Amino acid sequence: MAEEGQQSTPLPHINTYHCLCTTLILTTTHALESLPRRAEPVQDGAVILAPPVDLTASENVVHDKSRPSQSVLLNTVSDRRPVIIRREDGFEKRTLLRCGRCRLVIGYNLDDAHFENAGQITGQERPVYLLPGGMLATADMVSGKRAEVPPWAENIGGG
Ligand SMILES: [Zn+2]
Repeated sequence: MAEEGQQSTPLPHINTYHCLCTTLILTTTHALESLPRRAEPVQDGAVILAPPVDLTASENVVHDKSRPSQSVLLNTVSDRRPVIIRREDGFEKRTLLRCGRCRLVIGYNLDDAHFENAGQITGQERPVYLLPGGMLATADMVSGKRAEVPPWAENIGGG
């Protein structure tokens, strides 16, 4: 009987996030609150959900193949046409990600043009920007908390 000495691999805590309509949108080992957010002058404070492959390759990033990306987006659909969002310092081309059920905007991708090495990456490897106000952690949903959708996302008609 080796139960005492057995090293149990600690399972990562999986966070789950839902759309306002309760559709499961995201499962991730990260807490949304702990993820980096887009900095000024981007005003939406979108959470950056890093892709499995690191694009910026800064020296701060450790490539740890034993810990692959464990964030999964579910039940989302991308708009076919990007939208242009005006920023203080220019424009940004975004492809919106919507809840597949109620079409609420829950995040977006940036156009290839926003990445210097656009020719080398695929859509799968780009970061996804999530609007934290548009999703509810499961615990928040249970407690009846309401999500907040930024005005720019609300004003864009669905379809
Ligand atoms: Zn929804």
